[in-house]
Formats: sequence, C-alpha cells, structure tokens
Amino acid sequence: VASVLKVLMGMQMMVNINSELDLETAEMIAAELDLTIELKAAETLEDELITELENQEDDPDSLVPRAPIVTFLGHVDHGKTSLLDYLIGINVVSGEAGGITQHIRAYEVEKDGRSVTFVDTPGHEAFTEMRARGANVTDIAVLVIAADDGIMPQTEEAISHAKAADVPIVVAMNKIDVEGVDPNRVMTQLTEHQLTPSEWGGEVEVVQTSATKGIGMDELLETLLTVAELNEYTANPNREALGVCLESEQQGDRGVVAKLIVQNGTMRVGDILVCGPAHGRVRAMTNTLTGKPVEEAGPSTPVNLIGLDTAPGAGDRFHVLSDIGQAREIAGARSYESSRENLSGITTKVSFENFQDMLLNGQLGQDHERVKLNVIIRADAKGSLEAIDKELAKFDHPEVEIRVLQRSVGGVTLADVTLASASDAVILAFNVIPDEQARSLADERNVQVRRYEVIYKLTDDIKAMVEGRLKPEE
Ligand code: GDP
Repeated sequence: VASVLKVLMGMQMMVNINSELDLETAEMIAAELDLTIELKAAETLEDELITELENQEDDPDSLVPRAPIVTFLGHVDHGKTSLLDYLIGINVVSGEAGGITQHIRAYEVEKDGRSVTFVDTPGHEAFTEMRARGANVTDIAVLVIAADDGIMPQTEEAISHAKAADVPIVVAMNKIDVEGVDPNRVMTQLTEHQLTPSEWGGEVEVVQTSATKGIGMDELLETLLTVAELNEYTANPNREALGVCLESEQQGDRGVVAKLIVQNGTMRVGDILVCGPAHGRVRAMTNTLTGKPVEEAGPSTPVNLIGLDTAPGAGDRFHVLSDIGQAREIAGARSYESSRENLSGITTKVSFENFQDMLLNGQLGQDHERVKLNVIIRADAKGSLEAIDKELAKFDHPEVEIRVLQRSVGGVTLADVTLASASDAVILAFNVIPDEQARSLADERNVQVRRYEVIYKLTDDIKAMVEGRLKPEE
C-alpha cells in the first residue's frame, strides 16, 4: 500500500487507502512498480473473498464459549410458541412485540449470566430449508411434545429433520398440567422412536413443562445450558462477523430491516456487509427482544439490522468485508436469479445412478468407513413400512450403510423433498406418489424419487446399485 500511495503522490494524486482507482491509473502504477495487473470478475472476488472468510480458521486461543442456538420443533399446537413466549417473558399470542413482522423469531435469553439464543421457525420445513441453503443455525433442537397428545405425524417428521441435522435433541414434554396426562406413555413413544429418555437409561433429556403454568421452565433452560457445556460451542469474537439472515422486510421509511444472527466474530455499527444479493453499511442494530439499539453483536447474537440496500432471503449468509466497492460488486453479481441457481447448484443430489458411479469409481468410502446412502421411505401402509424395514435390515454390505432418515405412511410431501435435498437423500416411494408441489420441487432440486410397487424390486435395486449393475430407471 505504501508503495502504491507513493507512486500516486508522484502523480499528484492525493488519495487514501480507501480510494477507488480506475483501470488506467492502476495500469500506470503497475508499470511504475513493474507489476502485472490481473482483472478479476465479481465471481472470482466472491470465490476468493467469501470462501476465504468461510474457511478462515480461528486460533484455538481466540475461541471463547458462545450461547447455544436452540430451535423449537414439534407438532402444531403442542406449545412451541407458548414455551418461547414464557421463556422470553412476553405474550406474542396476545399481540406481537413491536417492529418487524415475525415469522422467524430469534431472541437471546439470559439466565444467571449465561445465555441461550432461541430461534423459532414456523415449521421443520423452514428449519431444513435453511440447512439446504448451507445455513446451519441450530446447535440444539427442542422437540416439543404435548403430553396429552403424544407423538404425532409432524412430531415424527420433526424428529427426522433434527436427526438428519445431527444436532442433540432435548424433549420438552409440554402441557403436563392437563388433567389425566400420562408421562410414561410419551416416554414409551419416545423410546419407540430411538429417543430413549435419560431417566430410562438413554441419552435424551426429557423435561416436563407447562408453558401456561410456567412449570419446568428453569429446568428446561438449565438442561439446554448443560447440553451446551458438554458440546463446548465456541466462537472467536475478535474477527469480522459472519452469519445468517433469518428473515428481512422492506419497512417504509426505515428501509430494509434484516434479522440476522451472528455465528462468528463481532458485528459493529459502521461495518460493511454483504448478505446474499444485498449489501450496505450497518446503520443501526437493535436487540430483537427489547428493540433497544446496540452498538455491537457478538457470536450467537440475533439482531435487527438497518443499512442493507435490498432485502436478503431467509438462509442467505452474510459476511463483513473491508471494502464497500467489493461488497457492492459481490452483491451485484448475486441477483436473486443467481442465488436461486446457487441453490440448485449446492444441491447436486444423490441418485441411485450417481451413487453407483461414485462407488464404482472409488470416489466413496476411501477412508475405510462405510459409505452412507441416505434414504427417505414413504409407503401406502404401516405394514409395507415394516416389511421394507425388515428387508433393509437384512442388507449387510462391507462398504455401504443404508441410513433411513425418515419413514412414514402417505404420499411424498414437500417436507420430504426439502429433507432429501438438505441431506443428500433418495426418496423411495412405495405404492405412493409425490403431490404436485413435491414433484416440482424435486425436479428443481434434482431430488430422486424412485417408485416401487413390490418390495423385492426395491431391495433388488439397492443390491444392484451397490454391486454396480443397476439398470436405468424406466
Ligand atoms: P404451537 O403451534 O406449537 O406454537 O402451539 P401454541 O404455543 O400456539 O399453543 C397451542 C395451544 O396450546 C394454545 O391455546 C396454548 O394456550 C395451549 N398451550 C400451550 N402450552 C400449554 C401448556 O403447557 N398447558 C396447557 N394446558 N395449554 C398449553
């Protein structure tokens, strides 16, 4: 920088380190300093700058504990909203906390000097959708199950989504205040779903709660903090911030308000930001709970931020850069179209055929670990599911392990495709078909849905694939 400035001064150009140079001037400087100039397209800039920021390793000494980011999942009406309301001490059901229209809520809650950040997505589809976009924001999933209702179809889906995300699960057995509920029934159901409660010798913490009576709330927070301690979530507050946009909206005269969650580093007012197709300088940030202005936001902190030029999408990652020109260029190169392309780009999906190819070419399983083939099974009846399970259980191959992310009765849904897309899975549809939405998303994301009418065909296909003699699907 010093040499470049010196040359410029020699050229009577008074500039500083933040000035932009045109190409002509740059060429003159290069000639003077005997350098060659390389022109870089915005995409290259993106690749170099953003990839570098994403991959930048933090010195172990710089890492400090950070609050766990916790997501609530569960069947509708089992009490997700009420639990979060109680924990943050407001009542959303009876009137939204001011400001941004909240589809995805995110709050930091403090208890005895330690914090937990809660992110409440409208459903597990939204949870997995973010994961599909590379935005893994969740550390711990709280599975909310109403004790009077037990495990319901959406609870089962939520379990699959949490398991696929590979995050610890804590169960909140809610509505424990309802007369006549039998906690043991839910515990048994949990055990049937491979979530054995710790009280019964398993690994899953089950906390009995009542969101309306305020029972078990401290215990739930304590449990989350303990799980967090065991998992040692850390971050480096002394670096440029990066993280994820949860949602954003255009708000009249305030401009774009974006709800972001910082995953690493510290974001400050004045920072230059690029987030999906948006960029800008942080004009102001507010606490998502109190609405009070904050000057900086460290790891695991959610904030509402003003300063972006356009509204980024849910799941768009953000990065703090040092140069507004670069931020503008990168954002410009990512129009919404291109970010959608990216989306299908990152989801190069597994199919039986390419899995077979990869196996044959030795691209998989080199490290002597068995390769996992993720599958989601949909069938017409419980009996069919059981029969398929039984067949798959017999499958024993030294190199390949079949991992069933989800099995359920009914047609293939949008949630199945989202899960498959986020987890590189193949959907096996036994005597069922995808609905229209699911079919079109599967096309868009290259998710393979294989249909079968007899069980031996399904198992034959899997065997054939592994042995490298799979025929193309008719
Ligand atoms: P969500 O759909 O999972 O977000 O569920 P909500 O939080 O909206 O709760 C659904 C209904 O269950 C509401 O009418 C709540 O008042 C009620 N509810 C939530 N938690 C409890 C609880 O612990 N006990 C009882 N009795 N009712 C509850």
